[in-house]
Amino acid sequence: MDVPVVTAADSERDQRRVAAELGRRGIGRGDRLVVSASASPALLAVVLGALRTGVVPVVLDPGLPPGERAALVADADPALDVADEPARLLTGEATAELAPWPLARPMHYTSGTTGRRKGVWSGVLDDADARALSAEEIDLWGFTAADRHLVLSPLHHSAPLRFAVHTLLAGGEVLLPGPFDAARAAQVVTGLRPTTTFCVPTHLQRLIARDDVDWSSFRVLAHAGAPCPEPVKRAVLAALPAGSVWEFYGSTEVQFTVCSPADWQAHPGSVGRARPGRRLETDERGQLWCAVPRWARFEYWRAPEKTAAAWRGDRVTVGDLGRVDPDGLVWLDGRREDLVISGGVNVYPAEVEAVLDAHPGVVESAVVGVPDDDWGQRVVAAYVGDADPAELAAWARERLTAAKRPKSLHPVGELPRTSTGKVRRLDLPAVLGL
Ligand code: ATP
Repeated sequence: MDVPVVTAADSERDQRRVAAELGRRGIGRGDRLVVSASASPALLAVVLGALRTGVVPVVLDPGLPPGERAALVADADPALDVADEPARLLTGEATAELAPWPLARPMHYTSGTTGRRKGVWSGVLDDADARALSAEEIDLWGFTAADRHLVLSPLHHSAPLRFAVHTLLAGGEVLLPGPFDAARAAQVVTGLRPTTTFCVPTHLQRLIARDDVDWSSFRVLAHAGAPCPEPVKRAVLAALPAGSVWEFYGSTEVQFTVCSPADWQAHPGSVGRARPGRRLETDERGQLWCAVPRWARFEYWRAPEKTAAAWRGDRVTVGDLGRVDPDGLVWLDGRREDLVISGGVNVYPAEVEAVLDAHPGVVESAVVGVPDDDWGQRVVAAYVGDADPAELAAWARERLTAAKRPKSLHPVGELPRTSTGKVRRLDLPAVLGL
């Protein structure tokens, strides 16, 4: 099977080349380096070679339209932009010395699910903070030289990049099968027997529907990024080795919780408990705040007002609504920006979508609020599937109170999504012509 494999030793040599080349060009600690290439051994070498010399790699989605890319590059203000040619930095000798762990954190832009993408900047860390950040990640997932990590998501997102980087730092190897394709992923899982992977629920949904996947090699499959439908999670738990299916709740900015398989099985739907060293609580509006260690702090790049709104002392919020129960388990309700207030009632789109999705004629749905003279906002829903709108409305009437019921239901071919595969509710009114 033609799948690029990155070994720790090969990557180390390439990272030394990259660091030597950056040094030759006078690029050093705190400088930004833009790269926008699909996953490859060269991309990983550039990211790690930069991080281990304190240069901050800004990994952009290679599929960005040129105008959007240009705007992000101008915003990032890099010392160098290697675009889709990371191999340009791999031509010299592997002479540079590297720190044993990253001295900086990559900077990423958020997915833009709720508006404009935000640049997340943690800049250059001091040695102790940098070591703590990497050690936490390696300890949490137990990465060792025996690991073979499968990359299923694009590396311009923070979690997929962190998993790949820390596997290599721990001496393991990384499989790069390319853009997600369920048939190819099934072949790679079955044929190359990875031990770890990170994915989003959409990947799980597509893979678990197949009957040609041998899951027995996994010791950790972690998922995050969006709610995982309960039937999918149950099917994954049943198919994978006991104890291997983990979830976490986090964002581009910072990681908040971890949910062990045992915690999820005992409390289905929860996203687990605060990660070690963190504490979660809610404010009067039901917003989740997390106290994080010093080395996990960040700011929004060149947006001090956004940074100020996100932090209260050592506690930070990314605008998710939810609750923390007396056992310390965290339950998410949705995004602050997605909350619909209809007739004075708080309506969480996820709750309404769960009811619609349970209808046998609905594959998936998305709910949004639109301005309404009587209700303030009224709930409308789009769905993919062959359910009859009138019949679906009757189904919703039996299961939801009046304020939560969609006032109109629109069958669509597909839902608007970000490049991460997340539903962009923001775009729904325009898509539906409302
Ligand atoms: P933007 O901030 O630009 O609108 P975004 O928030 O989608 O985009 P990401 O950082 O990619 O950007 O996503 C983080 C968000 O994903 C979290 O704030 C949360 O709403 C959601 N999320 C993450 N993990 C989970 C999970 N396990 N279950 C449910 N939702 C999750």
